[in-house]
Amino acid sequence: MNACTFCQIVKKMKEAYIVYEDDEVIAFLDKYPLFKGHTLVVPKEHYENIFEAPDEVLCKLIKIAKKIAKAQIKTLNADGVRILQNNGRAAKQIIFHVHFHVIPFYYGLEIKYPRLEINKDDAVEVVNLLREALENG
Ligand code: ZN
Repeated sequence: MNACTFCQIVKKMKEAYIVYEDDEVIAFLDKYPLFKGHTLVVPKEHYENIFEAPDEVLCKLIKIAKKIAKAQIKTLNADGVRILQNNGRAAKQIIFHVHFHVIPFYYGLEIKYPRLEINKDDAVEVVNLLREALENG
């Protein structure tokens, strides 16, 4: 069995709040969001980091990340969006399956620590809003 958490989400062996999915890419809510709507964009194929992933895959991921960022501004009224990507333990990569974070930011709202696990009601609401925005371009 593949122990990778993201591979398990891709295979639907592990639950996640899925925002977007196609043949190559899946995007779902971060389990410990910095802000409501914090989304991870992940290739379905397992690559450990940005160096292992082919350029075409990375291009696809960033295109989807951009769409999600737009959706966060449109539906979650984000004032800005941070897109980031960690490689290696020193850079605080925790899941060793390459992914981009797409995080909505707001004026006057500070990140709270410790990060709390996602609340189900919030997650369902946010997923529905983002999916709708993505479907409507
Ligand atoms: Zn994986």
